[in-house]
Amino acid sequence: MPAILNIVVMISARGLFFLPAIGMVAFFSRVNPAQASWETRSEGALMAELQNLLSVRDLAWVSDFHEQRTQIIPAEIKRINRFIWASHEIRPSDNIWKLASSYGTTVESLQSSNSSELIWMKPGHNLIVQNRKGTLHYVKSKDGRGQSLEQILRQYRSGNEARQRNLREDIVEANRLPGWALLRDYEFVPDEVVLIPGVYLEFDTFRVPFKHVSLRVSSGFGSRYHPVLKRKKFHDGLDLPQPHNTPVYASRSGRVIFAGWKEGYGLTAIIKHSDGMTTRYGHMSKIYVSQGLWVEGGKKMIGRVGSTGLSTGPHLHFEIRDQLGRAINPKKKFGRK
Ligand SMILES: [Zn+2]
Repeated sequence: MPAILNIVVMISARGLFFLPAIGMVAFFSRVNPAQASWETRSEGALMAELQNLLSVRDLAWVSDFHEQRTQIIPAEIKRINRFIWASHEIRPSDNIWKLASSYGTTVESLQSSNSSELIWMKPGHNLIVQNRKGTLHYVKSKDGRGQSLEQILRQYRSGNEARQRNLREDIVEANRLPGWALLRDYEFVPDEVVLIPGVYLEFDTFRVPFKHVSLRVSSGFGSRYHPVLKRKKFHDGLDLPQPHNTPVYASRSGRVIFAGWKEGYGLTAIIKHSDGMTTRYGHMSKIYVSQGLWVEGGKKMIGRVGSTGLSTGPHLHFEIRDQLGRAINPKKKFGRK
């Protein structure tokens, strides 16, 4: 039996007008959201009402805004055929992957919508959840006014023009804005929640430099007995054992400031990040970047795991250094800046 969870459901139902006449474009002024709240009633009745309300498609009805604190099963939200978001109260048994899939979204979306790469699954805390992929944008208020679609688009602008054009259409469709919002600017009211489909926040944090592998550490950060030098030596990074030729990704976006052979480190890449911190990748078998190249964190394969330099077996020697070149324990930096 599915667990029933305490969540606050906020449905921002938006008006849609589809005119039967072909080729007609209608311009409507935005209907102000009427505040309405349901009385407490049985979950079944509420769900029936929700389903009824939310499954209405391609019909003319008026914008409104409902707020209701009730208990809803995540699968119900997943089933709803339009965008909906809610606040989920975290339970001890929740895990983020299961939670994302039970609501019909992804961990990446939840990270973006909660503006945090590290989601702290603390029981009792609330997490914003949604049934679509993408980022929730909370419309800001300035002098009592909200934001326009153009302003929001500018905020999420990427270099790609075609993507930009599509994004407008995607936002209009996902949020069920009136069709004319494709042709004219559209005003959102303050605090309105808008889904930005397929767009995720770039957190610019340090990540584990591999994809889809669990993090194993054969030698940690700090003082240790060096297996090759046979003496006690401070270990400036983590040794991450992986099969030979496992792809190595940039831990964080930045510019390559060194790519080549380094005494002891073997084939090494060093990347400098926006705040002046650096990451170092040693003992690689191959390097795919050269000095001066800008690389995207988690996306650019910079080389492959090897055993070059002073090494006893295939592993990546991974370091994070601050602006003064001092080594920092990477374990304390993953998921942060
Ligand atoms: Zn090492």
